[in-house]
Amino acid sequence: MPLVPYLQGKTVAVMGLGKSGTSAATVLQNSGATVWAWDDKAETRDAAAAAGLTIVDLTTADLTEVALVLWSPGIPHTHPQPHPVATRARALGKKLVCDIELLALACPSAHFIGITGTNGKSTTTTLIGHILTKAGRKVAIGGNLGIPALDLPPLGTDGTYVLELSSYQLELIDQAAFDVALLLNITPDHLGRHGGMDGYIAAKAGLFGRLRPGGIAVIGIDDAPSRSVIEHLRNASGEYAIAISTETQVMGGVCAVEGILVDDCDGQATPIINLRGIASLPGRHNWQNACAAYAAARASDVDIEAICKGLSTYPGLAHRQELVGVIDGVRYVNDSKATNADACEKAMVCYDDIYWIIGGQPKEGGIASLDYLYPRIRRAFLIGDATEDFAASLQGKAPFERCGTLDVAVARARETAVAERRPGAVVLLSPACASWDQFKSFEHRGDVFRALVAALPGERRPA
Ligand code: ADP
Repeated sequence: MPLVPYLQGKTVAVMGLGKSGTSAATVLQNSGATVWAWDDKAETRDAAAAAGLTIVDLTTADLTEVALVLWSPGIPHTHPQPHPVATRARALGKKLVCDIELLALACPSAHFIGITGTNGKSTTTTLIGHILTKAGRKVAIGGNLGIPALDLPPLGTDGTYVLELSSYQLELIDQAAFDVALLLNITPDHLGRHGGMDGYIAAKAGLFGRLRPGGIAVIGIDDAPSRSVIEHLRNASGEYAIAISTETQVMGGVCAVEGILVDDCDGQATPIINLRGIASLPGRHNWQNACAAYAAARASDVDIEAICKGLSTYPGLAHRQELVGVIDGVRYVNDSKATNADACEKAMVCYDDIYWIIGGQPKEGGIASLDYLYPRIRRAFLIGDATEDFAASLQGKAPFERCGTLDVAVARARETAVAERRPGAVVLLSPACASWDQFKSFEHRGDVFRALVAALPGERRPA
């Protein structure tokens, strides 16, 4: 990765040595910067030192000569309490930035697409990346998802970075600029880190302050905070913004109210593609992602036929309503990423005959909000720490049984679904819980589910 010339020979403090911090520190060091690396955890510091980084205690070191501070987005620097290193650095007028900033400064001639939102970022990022790749573009996909920014390949004028941006990263961007900036939706999340809902909205809206001249904003308008962002952008700064909706027709925007994606950007309301026919994008929430990806690709001058090809060949993301098998007529869907009731709901509305594997480490609020979907549940199979909470919620409303572990739940769900022979039967792992009581991560839980399904007997159809 070619580094921005002004950091060569300069001292850069790197705070936080997780995956992206370590990789950024290594890239900076290999590019001729003097790197002072620090992490609050001793074992993380030891691992970084073993990997060849110079450890400097940023809580006590004199930071006067530091050119800037590369800050890991996960570490609080404002709310709820600023980390002492942030306070010390800011007192000296030092900038705190994340790796996205350095990538943007390193490769300023590339085309940049930034994607944010409370939900759907990863799906939309990979979908845009897929559409552009299919259309023959040179593309690098990463950021908050997958590959850390400074591990992406250098791109020039013919290349496009498609970057997932968290609200934490957005607060740590100073001069990085985007040709297409996309906000999917805003619902309350991470409020402690942003000092409340206003701070969270401001962090998301900050992306649009980073549009390049002539850049295009794409904004979902199906929630009130996002609507306020688009109104502000149009009224206060007169920016061009494409509105996205799955609930209403939008003049001058892109919508998919009944699943048909309609492009009205030229005022023609042209039906483009039936999203209901794309198995990897099930549900209204994915229509929002598809509309946003469509608008971003159009804003990047991809022709409509190529976008449709990309949409219809999108392979989907693992652990998000991922169809992992069809056995004896029963579909098996891995939605392990659904770690709360809201995410579960998105999947449940897509199916009518659900054999539901649910449970894990419970989250606040439980599954009470899903009451209205219980008529779709043929039977629930409870696992993990949440078993008794969820049993109490389901009692008298939907049939359930206690399975303890995922292997038992998969076996029991299969037996029940096969015996009942319903044409639309779906065994759905959508746990509404964190995974840490029995698994290392939601990915681990989803991988175990996939392996258990792969080992089931029966006649298979391609998934
Ligand atoms: P993120 O990267 O923002 O966490 P993902 O694309 O990984 O989002 O999707 C995570 C979960 O969020 C999905 O399993 C689904 O339940 C839900 N989801 C995805 N897209 C949307 C959307 N546009 N609106 C609301 N929820 C969504």
